[in-house]
Amino acid sequence: MAIRSGFPGYHVAMLQANEFDGRPGVTDTLGRALRDLRISVTDRCNFRCTYCMPREIFGRDYEFLPRDQVLSFEEIARLARAFVGLGVEKLRITGGEPLVRRDLPDLISMLAGLRSAGGTALDLTLTTNGSALRALARPIADAGLRRVTVSLDSLDDAVFGAMNGIDFPVAKVLDGIAAAQDAGLAPVKVNMVVRRGINETSVLPMAAWARDAGVILRFIEYMDVGHSNGWRLDEVVPARELVEMLSSAWPIEPADPLYRGEVADRWRYADGGGEFGVIASVTQPFCRDCTRARVSADGKVYTCLFAVDGHDARAILRSGATDAELATFVEEIWARRGDRYSELRSAATSRLPKVEMFAMGG
Ligand code: SF4
Repeated sequence: MAIRSGFPGYHVAMLQANEFDGRPGVTDTLGRALRDLRISVTDRCNFRCTYCMPREIFGRDYEFLPRDQVLSFEEIARLARAFVGLGVEKLRITGGEPLVRRDLPDLISMLAGLRSAGGTALDLTLTTNGSALRALARPIADAGLRRVTVSLDSLDDAVFGAMNGIDFPVAKVLDGIAAAQDAGLAPVKVNMVVRRGINETSVLPMAAWARDAGVILRFIEYMDVGHSNGWRLDEVVPARELVEMLSSAWPIEPADPLYRGEVADRWRYADGGGEFGVIASVTQPFCRDCTRARVSADGKVYTCLFAVDGHDARAILRSGATDAELATFVEEIWARRGDRYSELRSAATSRLPKVEMFAMGG
């Protein structure tokens, strides 16, 4: 079945239902559909998480992108429309810390109006460190955001404070999560990066809290993102070990993925206590089903979290190019994509000058 792209005046080729998941959309060299776009709206962040932006390297005087190099909301919306026209069904707003970008609800309402190539509403979500969520949960929900993911690595103030690099208190993040639930941004997901020797003792207390709070906790294997966090393999707590930890405390069972390309392995508490997920990029790579593209705050398109370089969409956006030319630019990037970093990870690859996670939106 051929479907006209959702991009006015543009027909990359009539979007075909692809073999990846049977829905309309372009595919890459490994047959993976383009379904998920992560949009970094700023490289700025008020935290200095040790696994992303270690304070000793990115100090208080670190120079972030100058304003004129950052995409405007109109440019972001135009670029997002091009991606949606090619098959994207999920938009995740990221940073740095996206809630530090002024007037973010305005961008959210611009994106909330988009429809997928199949005509359905997009899954519009956002990842935040939660520091400003108590104040902004309602405005971003009213603007059309569907759900939210909050990063929280421990309930212990000393452990969390050390990991976020600025001693930010747990209570303020928990207030933000409660405000998000009150605003209907559900299900709230909580991402916890687990690093051996730092916070593995926080795993079970976090799981107990998440069961009570009704949030979906996802444990993330510590990754060699960027080139500044001093990553070491022996600091990774493997997914297998995390699952064993959880099963020692509660009856659990594997749950089926909700869709092809879902990042987290889902597990259900057999006692009705909800579910949790494990994101195992290091020990159980999932590149074969990776449907994600990223756009940085300065308009670079990246086809992998561990990319060394990107494609300059900002130049196209500011060159007077038509929407059709912009969409062709994006389609050609995806059509040439062959990334599978996590499958190829080695001591050598982890030393590559990879783009920092905060600069491309995680
Ligand atoms: S390593 Fe790259 S290709 Fe593999 S899952 Fe992650 S982002 Fe996708």
